[in-house]
Amino acid sequence: MSDVKHISLPAQEIPVSREVDVVVVGGGASGIGAAVAAASNGARTLLIEQRGFLGGMGTVSLVPAFCPFTDKEKPIIRGIGMELMERMKEACNADYRREYADTLDWVPIDPEALKRVYDDALLESGVEPLFHSFVYDVIKSGDGRSIEGIVVVNKTGRSAVRCSYVIDATGDADIAALAGVPFQKGGEQGELQPGSMCYLLANVDRGRFRRFLEESGDTGQLHRTVERAIAEGALPEGRKSISGLAWVNDYLVGVNFGHVFGIDGTKAEDLTRGAIEGRRLARRQLAFFQNYVPGFEQAHLVASGEQVGIRETRRIQGDYVLTAEDFMEARTFPDDIARNAYYIDIHMAHSKANMHFTHLKPGESHGVPYRVLLPLGIDNLWVPGRAASSDRAVQGSLRVMPNCFAMGQASGTAAALALRDGVGARGVEIGELQRVLLEQGAWLGEPAPSGSSARGI
Ligand SMILES: Cc1cc2nc3c(=O)[nH]c(=O)nc-3n(C[C@H](O)[C@H](O)[C@H](O)COP(=O)(O)OP(=O)(O)OC[C@H]3O[C@@H](n4cnc5c(N)ncnc54)[C@H](O)[C@@H]3O)c2cc1C
Repeated sequence: MSDVKHISLPAQEIPVSREVDVVVVGGGASGIGAAVAAASNGARTLLIEQRGFLGGMGTVSLVPAFCPFTDKEKPIIRGIGMELMERMKEACNADYRREYADTLDWVPIDPEALKRVYDDALLESGVEPLFHSFVYDVIKSGDGRSIEGIVVVNKTGRSAVRCSYVIDATGDADIAALAGVPFQKGGEQGELQPGSMCYLLANVDRGRFRRFLEESGDTGQLHRTVERAIAEGALPEGRKSISGLAWVNDYLVGVNFGHVFGIDGTKAEDLTRGAIEGRRLARRQLAFFQNYVPGFEQAHLVASGEQVGIRETRRIQGDYVLTAEDFMEARTFPDDIARNAYYIDIHMAHSKANMHFTHLKPGESHGVPYRVLLPLGIDNLWVPGRAASSDRAVQGSLRVMPNCFAMGQASGTAAALALRDGVGARGVEIGELQRVLLEQGAWLGEPAPSGSSARGI
């Protein structure tokens, strides 16, 4: 950085465009959960999103399916996240509903249906959405312990939004980083999980593809086909499994396959390279599917992600750092605000490295304590989602969308309670937070609370 030149900008007066109770920055799973919860519980809530629609990785980057909402025995992510997934099913056509009505794990995403469902949920709960707007600065209090507002830029210009509480749901902990919260990024050597450019293929014959898999008599057929394509130079070295095929219907499939390496999702230059490399890789994979995989001969690439999918950037340092040991021992904490059962899923940082998977037993889950949402040094900020406070291994598990919804719901509910009681994030009474979460449909572990009901959003 020593050769980077700097210039000084003149001091500028900017308008205060809004004054609200809670600002949620980012409209992915964690931001939607947070905003709906905060507004439903009485806070004047603004959600700011840089894109023109909600959904984060699930719509921006076309991540093709929701990870499991169950621990393989029962649903453990309930509340707002599960309701929104069910609403997406309702918004899809009859064939989709017939096939996935009872499915809670790996439910394929119809991105257009999902965007509309998220719009409706936000408006119904009374959240004010502000799209096409990027938050690039924070206004801190004189003692530096809280955030009094954020600075946003959009087509209207620059403006400040004054607020009592902030929820950083950017996935990258942008707001926490701007506020000076300590964080880690990636592994010991700064290595990061790769990105993936997901996409949608139309004109695919699912029946023919199924027969191809069945005729081989084992599940390794697709894997061997990929290995052959790599050996013949039709695909680059790297990930061999195509586990991420999500069938929206019998001729439309979402694909999560292959990696783009060395991308730091907090750098615009890397995201630019990731977008270009990702689209090139998707084009190469299309040719592979057409030439090697029965049922895909006529496949048509209808859309790739607006942004390369990003698995890992910053992890904030919170009041508690959830560890691999907590995961392996399926620990419970007195301040649990959610449970997690998704496996540790760390993708390789370069093409010759291995993927790492660690599973809990069916029926097992660990607690997610409130403290992982609380960034060190700031009293009115929560960081749910991909950047919550954990070690790198647990981030490889906690990062999936169902967990992000649950952490978001807890953050939004906590913000509304903090507002009601006139306290900071650490002043929220944990028993009361848990009671409201349970009452509004969340699940915090056995014994299942009697009388908990799903919320209407
Ligand atoms: C390739 C890939 C495959 C995956 N597969 C699955 C899967 O199968 N199932 C699953 O459940 N999960 C999967 N995941 C994980 C999951 O999609 C993400 O970890 C999850 O979406 C994170 O949610 P989030 O709300 O924390 O952040 P995001 O989904 O990243 O949302 C953050 C939002 O904030 C906005 N934003 C960011 N910064 C700013 C700013 N400064 N100002 C304004 N707006 C901002 C972004 O535009 C975005 O909409 C996958 C991830 C990847 C990358």
